[in-house]
Amino acid sequence: MTGFCSLALLLPVLLGCAGGHPVPGRASFHKLLLISFDGFRWDYDQDVDTPHMDRLARQGVKAKYLTPPFVTMTSPSHFTTISGRWIEDHGVIHNMMFNTETQWKYSYKTTQNKTEWWDNGALPLWITAQRQGRKTASFHYPGGGAKYNGEPVQRSLVESYTHPDSNETEWRENIDIVMNWFTKEDFDFVTLYYGEPDSVGHRVGPETNDRRVIIQQIDRTIGYLVEAIERHGLTEHLNVIITSDHGMTTVKKQPNVTEILLTNYIKFKDLVKFDIVDYGGFGMLLPKPGQEEAVYQALKDAHPHLKVYKKEDFPERFHFAKHERVLPIVMYADSGYNINGQLIIYFNKGDHGFDNALMDMKTIFRAFGPDFKKNYLAESFDSIHIYPLMCRLLGVTPEPHNGSLAVTQDMLLDRHDQQSDSVAHAKTLGMYWSPRCPALRPQAPPSGARAYVGPASR
Ligand SMILES: [Zn+2]
Repeated sequence: MTGFCSLALLLPVLLGCAGGHPVPGRASFHKLLLISFDGFRWDYDQDVDTPHMDRLARQGVKAKYLTPPFVTMTSPSHFTTISGRWIEDHGVIHNMMFNTETQWKYSYKTTQNKTEWWDNGALPLWITAQRQGRKTASFHYPGGGAKYNGEPVQRSLVESYTHPDSNETEWRENIDIVMNWFTKEDFDFVTLYYGEPDSVGHRVGPETNDRRVIIQQIDRTIGYLVEAIERHGLTEHLNVIITSDHGMTTVKKQPNVTEILLTNYIKFKDLVKFDIVDYGGFGMLLPKPGQEEAVYQALKDAHPHLKVYKKEDFPERFHFAKHERVLPIVMYADSGYNINGQLIIYFNKGDHGFDNALMDMKTIFRAFGPDFKKNYLAESFDSIHIYPLMCRLLGVTPEPHNGSLAVTQDMLLDRHDQQSDSVAHAKTLGMYWSPRCPALRPQAPPSGARAYVGPASR
């Protein structure tokens, strides 16, 4: 009897324990914090002092840069990071949710609680990890407020409409909250999102003193994070990945350049049923019935800095256009050019959304913690590979995805070579799974939209 009791007491420790239920393997994996600073261009730390980020590079891993998916936009890119799927596979193809029948458009923040925009069959890591017994939470991370297959993220805070992006005190408070989730409530995986330096980059442009100032604020916050991890005794128990969703480039305005104004080449009233333009360097059009060829012919050579495609001819390398939400005419502009529709109403000084091959669209990847090597400079890689790395760190078997653990595993200390068969199997899935999965085809968004909200950047 004594032996049985000892075993019964010991089992939850051996197996790990979430919510009172034993979870195989959980105890042998460390916790994971994923932090995203929106719009942090890969080289933002090179023209300003960032002592805390520099120290972290010595104490952990730094990639030369990270390539986001196309379109280089907040919601699509964040959802690739959390799902390991190309944008054409996860279906979150824009910051704006839209309905071509009702003509309604919803801004970035309005979409955050709209499950129908996010839940297209690709499961984000929160849900997959929960189903495997991990406790997960999202703090302002895009998509964290939706339900997936009817299942919400265990704990989710969604940014309010009036949430300030740059309040340093609140940034620190949010870190304290997350640390308490890890220590007092035993959460395993938390995603934490900050809206800077994206806001400043849009408002004043990336090559400005204001941008350098906000990078120093971020650097102080990272210093605070490291101190908070130590204060909470998490140094040996928590892995941290710090990344972002895209870079930023200076917008080109007249009279310095001839801006792109589509109405100079097509009559919207006659040819276009619905458009997503006036939102940086990426746009889509739904021509009126029978007008697709006319719209395409009128636009394809219209402006020397505008590239226009029929959806089916959009370059494969973007892994973007196959989703059914993508409209029949897809276009993107050269770096810095906004695609204006019928008026030039656009006032950003900086923007993103451009070709992800451009260096100005590249972003950052940093990591540290008990499973990462120290002072390790990694080659650049695509953000799609973060997902299998996170699964590996958490000991979670991944969903089918487009990433590969082979890209990042050299960042890890050798102890990961001895982990369980299920994880080794997951690695194989990650490396060889085909990018198109018929079983996960997305569904059309249900109608039922309510209000038009004009374009807003992020
Ligand atoms: Zn963003």
